[in-house]
Amino acid sequence: MVCTFLATTAVGIFMLQVWLTDRRHRAAGYWCLSMWVGSLCTLLFALRPMGLPLLTVGLGNALAAFGYAFMWAGFRVFDRRRVYLSVVLAGPVLWSCVYLLVPQVSEDVNNRIIVSSIIITAYCLWIGVDIWRGRRTEPLPTRMLAAAFFVSHGIIYGLRIPMAIVLPTAFGHGTAYSAWFALFSLELFAHTILAAVAMLVLIKERGEALYRQASRTDALTGIANRGSFLDDIQKLLADRPQGTLMIFDLDRFKAINDTYGHVAGDLVLKRFAAQVAARLEASMLFCRFGGEEFALFAPGRDVAAAEPFAEGLRRAVEALPVPAGDQEIAVSVSIGLADVATFGPDFDRLHSAADGALYAAKEAGRNRVKRAAPSLGLADVAGRMRASTAADIARAGEGASRSFSVAP
Ligand code: GH3
Ligand code: MG
Ligand code: MG
Repeated sequence: MVCTFLATTAVGIFMLQVWLTDRRHRAAGYWCLSMWVGSLCTLLFALRPMGLPLLTVGLGNALAAFGYAFMWAGFRVFDRRRVYLSVVLAGPVLWSCVYLLVPQVSEDVNNRIIVSSIIITAYCLWIGVDIWRGRRTEPLPTRMLAAAFFVSHGIIYGLRIPMAIVLPTAFGHGTAYSAWFALFSLELFAHTILAAVAMLVLIKERGEALYRQASRTDALTGIANRGSFLDDIQKLLADRPQGTLMIFDLDRFKAINDTYGHVAGDLVLKRFAAQVAARLEASMLFCRFGGEEFALFAPGRDVAAAEPFAEGLRRAVEALPVPAGDQEIAVSVSIGLADVATFGPDFDRLHSAADGALYAAKEAGRNRVKRAAPSLGLADVAGRMRASTAADIARAGEGASRSFSVAP
């Protein structure tokens, strides 16, 4: 009992610290309460040899029920489930009524063990099942272990009931004497520590999962960012080298910003991303590549199947209503396509080809879909880059010679 008291008090301090640091951890607030109610209950149990059964036994067991009820409420809050006041009060009220009104319970330690074990077993099993049910929406690594802790503790606590019937415990010096009672108390101590560690680890794992998610998401549009897209596409291309890459660039976006303002520009980006995201197939990867440029990889489509899909997206974007005051912003997008079958599974090569096709779509008047020509292999892309670099150097040379001629 000394150990359980010290453990619950120490964990209560940690939980308070977690809750004070970030009040959004409401579950930690409930768990802190649960731990401190638990330590008060242990203190009262330890004082049983001193008498005052109404306090040490009656209130002690009511507090034990409250401790588990608050733990239940904490796990409900943790998984964003409703907390029912009736469930929180059910255990303590049931105990108090039975203890105060049924003399067979208040006067017999084995009957008291049976009643309090029913209450605590029910809370523990419910907690375990709730933690397990949350795995689909939030599969935290420690979730199953925590569920197993509570279900097993519930079952072990429930075993007190047949034990109290088959091997009734004797009562001496104000406390229960029985070999099994000591073992069960040891299990309670071990479970208190395991439950506390599980709670703290679950809070930490949720924080890590949120940061990981944020580091993979584009803050403005809420879709994947470039880094996470590159990670995913490299894995996909290594596993199954097939599919088509589409690069999107919004047309004359700078003019939209200049005409309607940056906030309206942001709204166009958000609406565009939402429009495309709503039309994605399950296996597709879509990200904001940077600025007003987006990338989509369709692993299940060759270029012939990807082109009508891209055309559908282009049309949907063209029809996208984006209000700016009492006006409507005309939005359009140019799309370049390159497929793995033609350009191979190397992402850089695929991207260069799709970018080349996007450039061609812009040149041809914007608001259109162009696929990279099969001849536009790596050698051609490199050749084009060399040619444009040579032209740049030649232009720079002309400028230099002009300035020389002006200022000899
Ligand atoms: P083009 O049809 O040739 O693609 O012309 P463009 O005006 O769309 O292309 P340009 O590259 O000249 O301009 C892109 C603009 O996108 C410039 C930049 O200010 C704007 N931009 C980039 N990121 C954001 C953003 O997050 N929000 C807003 N509002 N504008 C952005
Ligand atoms: Mg651009
Ligand atoms: Mg643009």
